[in-house]
Amino acid sequence: MNSGPSSSSHTPAAVRGQAKRRRTFAVISHPDSGKSTLTEALALHARAIGTAGATHGKAGRRSTVSDWMSMEQERGISITSAALQFEYDDVVFNLLDTPGHADFSEDTYRVLSAVDSAVMLVDAAKGLEVQTMKLFEVCKHRGIPIVTVINKWDRAGHEPLALMDEIHERTGMLPTPLTWPVGQSGDFRGVLDRLTGEYTKYTRDSGGASIAGEETFAPEAAQQLEGETWTTAVDEAELLELEEQDHDQEAYLAGRTTPVLFASAVLNFGVHKLLDTLVAIAPAAEPRPDVNEEPRPVDAPFSGFVFKVQAGMDSNHRDRLAYVRVCSGVFERGMVVTHANTGKPFATKYAQQVFGRDREAVDEAFPGDVVGLVNASALGVGDSLYLDRKVVFPGIPTFSPEHFMVIRAKDSSKYKQFRKGIEQLDHEGVIQVLRSDLRGDQAPVLGAVGPMQFEVAEDRMVNEFNAPCELERLNFSIARRTVRDSVPTLSRERNVEVLSRSDGELLALFSDRWRLQGVERAHPDVVLEPLVVS
Ligand code: GDP
Repeated sequence: MNSGPSSSSHTPAAVRGQAKRRRTFAVISHPDSGKSTLTEALALHARAIGTAGATHGKAGRRSTVSDWMSMEQERGISITSAALQFEYDDVVFNLLDTPGHADFSEDTYRVLSAVDSAVMLVDAAKGLEVQTMKLFEVCKHRGIPIVTVINKWDRAGHEPLALMDEIHERTGMLPTPLTWPVGQSGDFRGVLDRLTGEYTKYTRDSGGASIAGEETFAPEAAQQLEGETWTTAVDEAELLELEEQDHDQEAYLAGRTTPVLFASAVLNFGVHKLLDTLVAIAPAAEPRPDVNEEPRPVDAPFSGFVFKVQAGMDSNHRDRLAYVRVCSGVFERGMVVTHANTGKPFATKYAQQVFGRDREAVDEAFPGDVVGLVNASALGVGDSLYLDRKVVFPGIPTFSPEHFMVIRAKDSSKYKQFRKGIEQLDHEGVIQVLRSDLRGDQAPVLGAVGPMQFEVAEDRMVNEFNAPCELERLNFSIARRTVRDSVPTLSRERNVEVLSRSDGELLALFSDRWRLQGVERAHPDVVLEPLVVS
């Protein structure tokens, strides 16, 4: 069989060099913290290379490739996630988009399995919010290093030292500010660079849509310019030093500390510094451990794993798109790779379609990059692809579902389509499908992390699989892993149901924490374990 260009024209040293230039990251934040604004500002500072469904298509902003369902357009949100690639200071950034909507889905978590670091964006007036904390927990679990950006410093907000305390208390990470604000929130004049002691003064230019002006001054000049305000910043920075809140690369990489920057994304203040920081300290693409915990060297033949699957990018041509994070070697468009899970070949000749604008730039991709593969119905979330030398990367764990609905075909003559649709959605990881003998195949239970997953599933069942269906909410909110021996006991309990998931797990569902605790107390021998969170 012709396996396409199996050996790339790049030497192993060149591939290692490319991996070293990569910074693959996500911005984790609560909605409205300024993630879209920051993303646009970052792209403005850098040279955007390719967009695979760039930033959110909010009303009044440019709509994006990822606005694939009318549902998304109606609400002006991006349900699915994709990647934005840009170059700055000879470094290639891959910014993976995590949906910024209040409703959560597994997609959000999966994106974090494909990044090497994260930027936690915090609104200066609000501090750490619910979703920031949820996403932070996932990063912590996965050992993803985090740089924190305090945003909206141009608006009145908390005291900077109080924000540092909050981060420390709530995340357990010691904040190690790299810059310190000159001027209270609402009076953002610039920042003190804690490493050099210099003052970067920001100047507003017309409109704020272009790159903000920056001037750097030595401490003495800063003192003359800003007087008391500078002195305050210096005093506070000294306090941080006394508390040993200085950057420590090893502690940052280990997730014990979080370097902090102050910014105003809307004014483009501090964006430059964020890019410089990520260039200097954020981890590059490194060898990824396989299922046997053996790291695949970045210069080994091509390998990658699917971290999300998306359908229906183009409503005229319903198609499935798999986003693959490259882990090793060079991805060259047109190559035929092997799908590790089935051993079957997978042709990649349409890989370019995802990247609308600059086709040349994405003819090849290196470790850390994201490639979108079309015609990917065979690929599921967590699947591995490789060239020449087999590798299987650990699957992406499925999250504990918190919402449950029974799904039934509305039209019994469409049962075949219904079944096919359910199987496909399950396979892609759009939704978890739970079954039991009691409920039968005609009415499986769908489990989701966020309720919007049901809407996506229903939309696709109707429009893609031509299987109109109805959904009925079930009064469960907690799932626990159990074992076969415990099933008889659990089945006798009121308001408890045991279902099996396609990965073989047995899930016991409970209405709430109290019901779970009641059953645990009544039957201490029954196995009820929390499902993996990440
Ligand atoms: P997202 O939901 O996290 O993507 O947030 P957006 O980027 O859409 O920003 C939410 C709102 O905050 C918008 O009205 C932005 O103009 C505003 N915003 C973003 N960054 C800043 C900032 O640095 N300062 C101020 N004052 N407003 C900001």
